[in-house]
Amino acid sequence: MKVFKFGGASVKSADAVRNIVDILRKFEHTKIIIVVSAMGKMTNLLEKAVEAHRNGSPYDSVVAEFRHYHSEIIHELGGLSQDVQSRIDGFMEELDQLLSLPVASDYGMDYDRIVSIGELVSTSIIEGFLKSSGFRSEWLDVRNVIVTDQKHQNADVNWTRSSANADIMHHHLNEGDTDMLVTQGFIGRSALGNTTTLGREGSDFSAAILAYLCDAEDVTIWKDVPGMLNADPKWFNNTIKLEEVSYRETIELSYYGASVIHPKTIKPLQNKNIPLYVKSFLHPEDPGTSIRDGATCVPEVPSYIFKADQVLISISPKDFSFIVEQSLSEIFQAISDCGMKINLMQNSALSFSIVVDNQPARRQQLMELLSGSFSVRYNEGLKLLTIRHYDKKIADSLTQGNEILVEQRSRHTWRIAMRELSKSE
Ligand code: ASP
Ligand code: MG
Repeated sequence: MKVFKFGGASVKSADAVRNIVDILRKFEHTKIIIVVSAMGKMTNLLEKAVEAHRNGSPYDSVVAEFRHYHSEIIHELGGLSQDVQSRIDGFMEELDQLLSLPVASDYGMDYDRIVSIGELVSTSIIEGFLKSSGFRSEWLDVRNVIVTDQKHQNADVNWTRSSANADIMHHHLNEGDTDMLVTQGFIGRSALGNTTTLGREGSDFSAAILAYLCDAEDVTIWKDVPGMLNADPKWFNNTIKLEEVSYRETIELSYYGASVIHPKTIKPLQNKNIPLYVKSFLHPEDPGTSIRDGATCVPEVPSYIFKADQVLISISPKDFSFIVEQSLSEIFQAISDCGMKINLMQNSALSFSIVVDNQPARRQQLMELLSGSFSVRYNEGLKLLTIRHYDKKIADSLTQGNEILVEQRSRHTWRIAMRELSKSE
């Protein structure tokens, strides 16, 4: 059994849906669990509906846009069977109802219930279209399989309880006459019965969870890029496609900010030694990238990860005392309390520095929390460059014309927080 994951961009229009059906034709009698995200930018749109609902502002136009977007696609696909269409109508009604209810005390609970409708609708459309195109497909509500805790918007999987549900999928695929089981990425359900979500862009992780639960032979993530590249083409020219990358290297790259797959995806796959392929839905014949146990990286080239809009925060004890374990523990507690994520850290005798994404509200909160014992200063407008398997010459050329504020080098990784020098400097 295989697991395929199709993200929002691969199902953003009727043509895109037809394209993925063409891909699936080549696998017509293979048993596949197909994990699909919300179509196009529908998650962002539903987030707007959540905001409007919370603020008591009008959301009708957002809901109208959501309905219109999907009904256009359904229309262009030539319509769906009555039962699929009524399931979709049911989700649309649920959306209206959720938005007309008073706000829940827990923001995340409202968010998860509302935003999950994107995936419930997209998978219904895809499955309905597959069936009417002659596939032996079935729709599955993934919330009956993936059990999570109650941490809304970023729920953790309850592996024991979810494993007990793996039979649901086996039953559909092995005992029935179904080849393709279409289900949602990103969403789950808590043991208390509430819909939860796994964090933005979490559908890759869903595919890995289901693969783990079913002992799948492999997972393929279909993307609009040819595979994993050694740099983001948004920032770098002449990127190179990586043919093979180890699980470990993939985790390192995504930890430093390579965004091609969700960072949580690898662990379940590595634990069961399930290979992951990243392939282009535009050129499905191309080999893409394979991620498995093995060579760190083929070809052996440096990888570059670039994060813009970074801030260097320097924290020093007010009384000129040393940075020691106790002050570090106080600082870490404050960082964690404001929900900040550290991209790089460094200490000296009298100060502790971190590089983080530019989030002014969180930074303000941190400064307040630490203001008793520490003085906190910051520098904005930095770039953070990480080079895996670095090459000194290229690193020099990439840092040219920049002032380097923090630099760290280990055997395989070189990290530089820098700021462009203005022309006059
Ligand atoms: N639809 C969700 C999002 O846009 C999940 C995903 O696409 O992976 O964040
Ligand atoms: Mg998406």
